Amino acid sequence: MAVFNHPSFDEHEQVVFCHDKASGLKAIIAVHNTNLGPAFGGTRMWNYPSEEEALNDVLRLSKGMTYKNAMAGLTMGGGKSVIIADPQNTPDRAALFTAFGRFVNSLGGRYVAAEDVGTTPADIKIASSQTPYVAGLEGKSGDPSPFTALGTYLGIKAAVKHQLGRDSLAGLRVAVQGVGHVGYYLCKHLHQEGAKLVVTDIHQPNLQRVANEFGATVVAPQDIYQQDVDIYAPCALGATINDVTLPQLKASIVAGCANNQLAEMRHAQALQQRGILYAPDYVINAGGIINVSFENQYDVQQSTAKVEQIYNTLLKVFSQADAQARTTADVADEMARAIINQAK
Ligand code: NAD
Repeated sequence: MAVFNHPSFDEHEQVVFCHDKASGLKAIIAVHNTNLGPAFGGTRMWNYPSEEEALNDVLRLSKGMTYKNAMAGLTMGGGKSVIIADPQNTPDRAALFTAFGRFVNSLGGRYVAAEDVGTTPADIKIASSQTPYVAGLEGKSGDPSPFTALGTYLGIKAAVKHQLGRDSLAGLRVAVQGVGHVGYYLCKHLHQEGAKLVVTDIHQPNLQRVANEFGATVVAPQDIYQQDVDIYAPCALGATINDVTLPQLKASIVAGCANNQLAEMRHAQALQQRGILYAPDYVINAGGIINVSFENQYDVQQSTAKVEQIYNTLLKVFSQADAQARTTADVADEMARAIINQAK
């Protein structure tokens, strides 16, 4: 398994493979770039089919965090960690996250962990018994999801303004794929503004909730792409913009909270060629990490005001992409790299 030559290595500063025999912990901590500050990024727990897939995931996600934090104007670098284990079937979580906390601590603050897919604030609290280098604990900045949803909602509004010349979402149709923590709050914002919702999920209770509360139309997971909608909002997994799904899209905007939405960078060009406006994922979904960045002196008004800047940042990305006939993904990457290199 290549590490330094891995296609997603991208000059990572540090990649740490963690093993603790007693608890069975197998984890990878990736520190992509600390030019702007300590590397912040969540801890994902997933039953990866192979170690290669875990490494690929952590490298891609930690690079995304560097770019996300830079574009959000935060003095934080980018990192991520993955724990290779089944989140639904881990007998001794306390032992696992205690061991994980020791490894995080051994990095002396170069990496700060938080919850992510498959982990909870309670898990991170356990890790915090071993290290101060954790964020997003209950009673501090708390659940980041409502802030991620707010940023995503405002990002959708920016995309609608640019692509459709409209200030309101009233009457527009939005297909939301995944109505979990973020998707639920996003649907709430969209519904309050009069948007019509088409939703899918693989977890029935989540679907039922948005159908009941917001009058959303429910469709099967494989049918979400071809819905006759204005906006497709990926809010579940990554890589849902790919060779199979792209030809099915009827939406003229792709804007959602999922990380790593493009299966490959070339899919940004494919979207552009089809006249579909793409809101770069790490720009639109930065609301949660922005809120976490206020953790030590928490102020909800300041945090909200910073999340609201996502609207203007995206408008800037969209107009520059138009002016230079480039993809929005390419323009966002270039803007992020400029910020990171300037901080060197
Ligand atoms: P979540 O696990 O609470 O919600 C995801 C939802 O997607 C679940 O309801 C799940 O059942 C559903 N889902 C899974 N596979 C699906 C499929 N194939 N088709 C349809 N639905 C499916 O996670 P979340 O915290 O809401 O995060 C959603 C996405 O946003 C993730 O990609 C995450 O990395 C990203 N994100 C989240 C935050 C945050 O603050 N939570 C911040 C930035 C990015």
